[in-house]
Amino acid sequence: MPTRATKRGSERTPLHRDCDVLICGASFGGLAVARELAGSTADVMILDRYEIGERQTSACGIPTAWLRALALEDALQQTFGELVLHTPHTEVRYDLPWTFSTFDYRTLCGLLAEMGRFEFETATVSGRTGDTVHTDRGDIRAPLIVDALGWRRVLGSGQNIQPPDALLSRGLEVHPFGSGEELEVWIDRSYVPAGYGWSFPADGELRIGVGSFDPRHHVREPTERLATDLHADKVRYQGNWIPHALRDATEDGVFFVGDSAGHCLPLTAEGIRTALYFGLACGRELRGVIEGHQGRESALAGYHRFSADHALAFRWMLRVQRLVPRIAPRLLAPSLRAMGAKRFVDWSFGHYLDIAHPDFATAGVPGRIALAAS
Ligand SMILES: Cc1cc2nc3c(=O)[nH]c(=O)nc-3n(C[C@H](O)[C@H](O)[C@H](O)COP(=O)(O)OP(=O)(O)OC[C@H]3O[C@@H](n4cnc5c(N)ncnc54)[C@H](O)[C@@H]3O)c2cc1C
Repeated sequence: MPTRATKRGSERTPLHRDCDVLICGASFGGLAVARELAGSTADVMILDRYEIGERQTSACGIPTAWLRALALEDALQQTFGELVLHTPHTEVRYDLPWTFSTFDYRTLCGLLAEMGRFEFETATVSGRTGDTVHTDRGDIRAPLIVDALGWRRVLGSGQNIQPPDALLSRGLEVHPFGSGEELEVWIDRSYVPAGYGWSFPADGELRIGVGSFDPRHHVREPTERLATDLHADKVRYQGNWIPHALRDATEDGVFFVGDSAGHCLPLTAEGIRTALYFGLACGRELRGVIEGHQGRESALAGYHRFSADHALAFRWMLRVQRLVPRIAPRLLAPSLRAMGAKRFVDWSFGHYLDIAHPDFATAGVPGRIALAAS
């Protein structure tokens, strides 16, 4: 087990204070919220159990346009214009209408953090009573609280649904040294009955993993087998649960962003750009409160609506997620080939990008999100 950078022993001084905005979780969602509050008068505090960028939470693949839109290109590692799909019977190449890139997690989080203005502390968040958040270092009170802590939804009210009963997928990957030029995906029941395997090259490293839509299906053995099949070392494991259903984005006065709100896209398990997207939206609502354009209740209602407006797209993706494993393997290859027609790829991937389009990053619509505009 690697040792993670966090405050230890005597450094872990008591932490009792008030602030205007308390953001719990310093990954994609939390840092995007903070970015939108930069330059405001808000006293913003961010908590995470580890130092910023310390614990990579994904294979770090994202549409390149999102890196550009947020001026995060310095974190970019490799860019791909094609998606290579492997099935037991064929290999299909999709010429994508937009490129996809891998990036360095630590660099990206560092860049995002530099764009915000906040106080950061390492602390483990355990729960909440009203507007007071409890941590292992003490209690912090804030009128505006954001839960960007990931799938556990730590600050939700009531009992959390735990895997394997919750609507969660599971994913595990290894990060061997190595190189490659292709963004590859395996839809192959011999690795996982419902789900897919992947290999994302990232500048001297490969991120090879398997994700299962069925939380009961373990992915360690298939991940290791895929790595073996690709002649790669089984080293530096990274895995987690991945939500695949949208949840309420506000609850009991708290804003939920990213995986805590189920913002990860069900079929592809792409949750980085959506965490950024909904984080920006949340930050804009909070900024409206700080600048006196709206009250907290209005911000909660606006953000709730914004997230819920995406429910149809998330439901569709969940339907397709459930459909794909039912397609007989011998029909999968011709189906994928048929869907590889350039016009269909452009149409489907265009709609897919639209769910959380990078233009939203530069739209700069404060408060009330003016969602009509996106
Ligand atoms: C194996 C795997 C590969 C993936 N690959 C991709 C990919 O290539 N592209 C993509 O778009 N998505 C990918 N995903 C999904 C993606 O990782 C998530 O959707 C995304 O990280 C969600 O961002 P977030 O900010 O909501 O949460 P997270 O990135 O999970 O961040 C949560 C933060 O909260 C902190 N935290 C958690 N609990 C506590 C606590 N109690 N107290 C204090 N701090 C806490 C954590 O340390 C972390 O910094 C992958 C997921 C997995 C499991």
